[in-house]
Amino acid sequence: MKKLTLPMQILIALVAGIVVGLICFFAGIPQFTANYLKPFGDIFVNLLKFIVVPVVLFSMIDGILSMEDMKKVGAVGWKTVAYFLVTTAIACVIGLVCASVFNNAGFFPVLDTANAEYEAKAFGGFMKTLVDIFPTNMWQSFSSANMLQVIVIALFFGGAILAAGEKAQLCRDIVSSFYSVIEKLMSFVISLSPIGVFAYMAWVVATQGAEILGSLALVLGCAYIGYIIHAVAVYSVSAKVFAGTSPLKFFKGAAAAMIFAFTSTSSAATLPVSKECADKMGADSDISSFVLPLGATINMDGTAIYQCVATVFLASCAGLELTIGQMIIVVVTATLASIGTAGVSGAGMIMLAMVLEAIGIPVAYIGLIVAVDRLFDMGRTCLNVTGDISCSLCVSKWESKKAAKAKK
Ligand code: ASP
Repeated sequence: MKKLTLPMQILIALVAGIVVGLICFFAGIPQFTANYLKPFGDIFVNLLKFIVVPVVLFSMIDGILSMEDMKKVGAVGWKTVAYFLVTTAIACVIGLVCASVFNNAGFFPVLDTANAEYEAKAFGGFMKTLVDIFPTNMWQSFSSANMLQVIVIALFFGGAILAAGEKAQLCRDIVSSFYSVIEKLMSFVISLSPIGVFAYMAWVVATQGAEILGSLALVLGCAYIGYIIHAVAVYSVSAKVFAGTSPLKFFKGAAAAMIFAFTSTSSAATLPVSKECADKMGADSDISSFVLPLGATINMDGTAIYQCVATVFLASCAGLELTIGQMIIVVVTATLASIGTAGVSGAGMIMLAMVLEAIGIPVAYIGLIVAVDRLFDMGRTCLNVTGDISCSLCVSKWESKKAAKAKK
């Protein structure tokens, strides 16, 4: 019998998880999934978290070394960041438009804000965030899995190894040897992903089933419409226009990472799967090694859409209509907040506080949507990783065209 491909196994696990979740939900035993199935999902996500720091570190250094000079790293870097920024700004606009349409049509419920409780973390401001990107102690960055700092460390080490030339040969060999080991480890952990997908899906459906049917269904629906529009209109179109990949091939190729992100709600944890998908679709491995870890850390279009939709919804609960000026503030702050969001479960909701504060909505109102955050998170993480994959395809194509031109 032919062995099922991994995307197929993941898809079957997803459907099986939904079925088992529904059975437990209607049988009134959601606790079974929380007590006995979710722990298997947790084990799987723990394994991914355990490899994510070495994956980001070594894949980025390896990517930089394969590009051979810092000029090429710079060229790839600015194209990547430009793609991320433009698509995130578009995501904010899509989120705001969808939310305004829903709000004006009276689809958003008006919830009682009297008992809303949520305590936001204090933000140190932009300059403090900038300073904190630079590590003082790299072991601390590794142990706290501070991905932005890990990326900075990778950039410095990659650049320094290139600059040291022949003398750094041993370092190059060590990086490439470590990376081969980590690749093996990744593929082993990824092969277990159907188990994680099944366990998490059953748990979410069984425990959040009531919420899906509850009053926030339309707000969730609005965010998901935004996610879908963005995936189709921005990612599949840019993959087609810039990288020549048809939408069908694109979504089929990205499916494993998308489903995995959907159930794990962590872009960082999905990184190994995204890398496999991007490379299979023809991304240049050196480039995807650089683009994907960066994207899993700073490129969060799903999060940006969610933050815009949530802001319009919470504003309407507060009895406020956003002015055009406030909407512009939302676009700017949601873009920055999504960049600052870590690629882990629930981080986007924490950063939502920054957007709300910018336009004077009480942060405590986040309490109104906290119960269903995981449901928003599933879709936004799925979109976040799709954007990273699409970017790696586009940048690979731009670079290969540039190389072909230079040869002529
Ligand atoms: N969970 C998202 C991610 O990992 C971040 C978020 O919470 O928005 O991409």
